Amino acid sequence: MFFEVQPGSDTGDRRYRELVEQLDMPMLIHVDGTIVFATQAVVDLVRVEDLQALKGRQLVDFIHPDDLEMVVAQMVRVLAGEPSERHRYRIRRADGTDAWVAAAATPYLLGDVAGALVVVEDITARLDAEAKLRASEVRYRALVQNSADIVAIVSAEGRLTYVSPATAAVLGREVEEVAGTDVRRWLHPDDTMVIERLIGRLRHGPLGEGSSATFRVRHQDGAWRHLEAIATSRLDEPAIAGVVVNARDVTDRIAASARLRRMALHDSLTGLANRTLIEDRIKQAVQRGPTAVVMLDLNRFKDINDSLGHAVGDVVLAEIADRIRRSVRSGDTVGRVGGDEFVLVLPQAGELQDIRATVDRIVSTLQEPIEHGNSRFRLSASVGIAFAPEHGTTGEGLLRAADAAMYRAKRERSGPSVYDHRDRERSIERLALSSELIDAIELDQFELHYQPKYDLASGRLIGAEALLRWFHPTRGLIPPDGFLPLAEDTGAIHAITRWVIDTALAQARAWTEQGHDLSVAVNLSPSSLQDPSFADHVQAALVAEGVASERLVLEVTEQTVMADPETALSVMRRLSDLGVRFSVDDFGTGYSSLTYLRMLPVTELKIDRSFIGDDCGAVDHDIVETIIALSRRLGLQVVAEGIESCDATDYLRSAGCDVGQGFHLGHPLPAAELDLGGPACVAHEHAVHGSAGSHLAS
Ligand code: C2E
Ligand code: MG
Ligand code: MG
Repeated sequence: MFFEVQPGSDTGDRRYRELVEQLDMPMLIHVDGTIVFATQAVVDLVRVEDLQALKGRQLVDFIHPDDLEMVVAQMVRVLAGEPSERHRYRIRRADGTDAWVAAAATPYLLGDVAGALVVVEDITARLDAEAKLRASEVRYRALVQNSADIVAIVSAEGRLTYVSPATAAVLGREVEEVAGTDVRRWLHPDDTMVIERLIGRLRHGPLGEGSSATFRVRHQDGAWRHLEAIATSRLDEPAIAGVVVNARDVTDRIAASARLRRMALHDSLTGLANRTLIEDRIKQAVQRGPTAVVMLDLNRFKDINDSLGHAVGDVVLAEIADRIRRSVRSGDTVGRVGGDEFVLVLPQAGELQDIRATVDRIVSTLQEPIEHGNSRFRLSASVGIAFAPEHGTTGEGLLRAADAAMYRAKRERSGPSVYDHRDRERSIERLALSSELIDAIELDQFELHYQPKYDLASGRLIGAEALLRWFHPTRGLIPPDGFLPLAEDTGAIHAITRWVIDTALAQARAWTEQGHDLSVAVNLSPSSLQDPSFADHVQAALVAEGVASERLVLEVTEQTVMADPETALSVMRRLSDLGVRFSVDDFGTGYSSLTYLRMLPVTELKIDRSFIGDDCGAVDHDIVETIIALSRRLGLQVVAEGIESCDATDYLRSAGCDVGQGFHLGHPLPAAELDLGGPACVAHEHAVHGSAGSHLAS
């Protein structure tokens, strides 16, 4: 109701007045600052008792002191007939609290009295919310600005309306340079579609829905960085009006997985293609035309590994890989398929002579000296060549053919060999032989021959070396060199070595029973010394046959030990602790250091027969005498093997060599045929028959 301020107020209007009073809108009329009308909503706003309590109150009573001046100025203008804009100011409520309002006032004539109609809106809650929003925005901004997260807002048109510092950093630029630009400017051309599709999808999808994508952006340095992003549509939210992109830089991760993929197809040491990739390349090349597959195997590379260590071996392999890579055309593939086996795939192979020229070029670069630290050495390679379609059409078949040709080249020490039918027969033979080898023990096809060892000074028989023979049902006698490498390759060697140990010890026991106190020497292959259970087997066999461990001599070569010195040494120590003796066979042909020799629990050196010479060749006096002197120094027994003549026997005896072995003194023979009779004496024979002296076991 109107306060009864104006006498002219008409009771007929009362109903309207009451109606207006009920409006849920704070609205009042004042005359010169005195409130003459207000709605119930004003009562609620300023927290007075009721409408009556407002009657005659001054508007300024409810204005916050700080805003008073501004509000009064506005009132004056309105009372002068000038409508005002909406103003924001604070009011002071009856209970002393403050609130924010937005108010607009219009001149209002009450009869001839000039008043003003003020429409008020309580905006406290909204301002609070806004303040909170601002605060949280500040907080979020602070978080985003300082975090490593790549955050950007992209408008529907593709403009970057916000970029976090990390976003700019991933581009190698300043925020100012990037903000406001078209996002496509930074994208990899192949990836712009990804982003467009993403924005398109989000534009039509529900608000807040996330979608992920991976794309590349260009860093200022020209490199492409890979980003993995999640985009969320905030297109409908006026404060953002865009797609919020949260991204991570996954460049390193992608590089790492690419490296992993490469590793699956490449040899990690040299970076060359591995067998899988090589076979694939061969397949592709064969489909396109004539192809050559070249297999290169380094000669005696194992010696480098064994003598200088695997680390040097690796450096050498990497160097070799480089040299080969530099010597081929760009379409050729170079791979490494085994320790020291390299393969070339030469597509569109022309004439054989062209292939040979390529191969010769590579072989001669390989022969150039390699320097490492103080070492300087030359390598050579054996090479086999196979052609598609003549020798095969599959990767596997061609590799096998090239391998077989390479084997022949190695065996015959010839230059590069081209595969031919003989290689096929040989590889078929190898295959057949390896399966027969497995059954040979069961079928009782092995036999040991024993070659006598004499004390050179006294001529006394002191023992025999057990040498393995394979009596093959169709091929006849196969010497150890003819099947032992195969046995190594197939793993059959373990069973074979055990059989040899058992048989040799059974023989030693038989000799004892016949009254002969002889030692028996058994040759070990490299894998025996890498087999930790080998010592157990030997120990059990010694016990089973009741043979004193001192009577067993195990012959190892420098290479046998150097393949894995640690393991070999521990196996050797265990056996030597039992009393088993060790002899270094073929001494003088390896590269190993004398330091190792000191570490090994050996009691004997066997001078390699190449230094003893054959019937025609002369003994290498320097080397033989040096080895004898060395043995003396180290307190080792020294044995000369391969003695084929009386002269050699005489010389070795006079040079101080302890023990002799060789065709001149006795061929390897089955135990039953061995002449153990009496104290047959080399020295004695020599004394009696002179240089024409017969030998014992002929
Ligand atoms: P090795 O241990 O150096 O054996 C000596 C080889 O020289 C034997 O050849 C023997 O027959 C031969 N030989 C002996 N005296 C003379 C001679 O005066 N002149 C010439 N030119 N040669 C002579 P074999 O029996 O063919 O054995 C060859 C190699 O096979 C052996 O060399 C040994 O390393 C290995 N081997 C033999 N039996 C076994 C075995 O049971 N296990 C293992 N792992 N290797 C064995
Ligand atoms: Mg031997
Ligand atoms: Mg030998």
